[in-house]
Amino acid sequence: MAFDSPRQMYPVNEKCAGCGVAITELPFQPTAGRPVYCTDCNRQYRDRRRGGGGGGGGMSRGPRQMYAVDLQCAGCGTAITELPFQPTGDRPVYCRTCLAAKRGSAMAA
Ligand SMILES: [Zn+2]
Ligand SMILES: [Zn+2]
Repeated sequence: MAFDSPRQMYPVNEKCAGCGVAITELPFQPTAGRPVYCTDCNRQYRDRRRGGGGGGGGMSRGPRQMYAVDLQCAGCGTAITELPFQPTGDRPVYCRTCLAAKRGSAMAA
């Protein structure tokens, strides 16, 4: 059907916390005490979060935060000194090789 129902908008009387522009409607009910942003500021905020460092193309994977650990791979026993996530302690940790192998076999299954 060609009828695209518009998103429900809530009439508000707010000001963008970023640029101060008047906002008369929002696609959600504003929470009191919470800053509201206009479409432009929202987009800028989102772009910034996506890691726009301002640079031409070549968006290589930035250095991920690594956590220093002192663990052993539950698969092959290799020493693991850093992880891209904080280990929970109750879960086995695998080295990259074992992870790749696990992923490969899972996909083949
Ligand atoms: Zn704004
Ligand atoms: Zn391993």
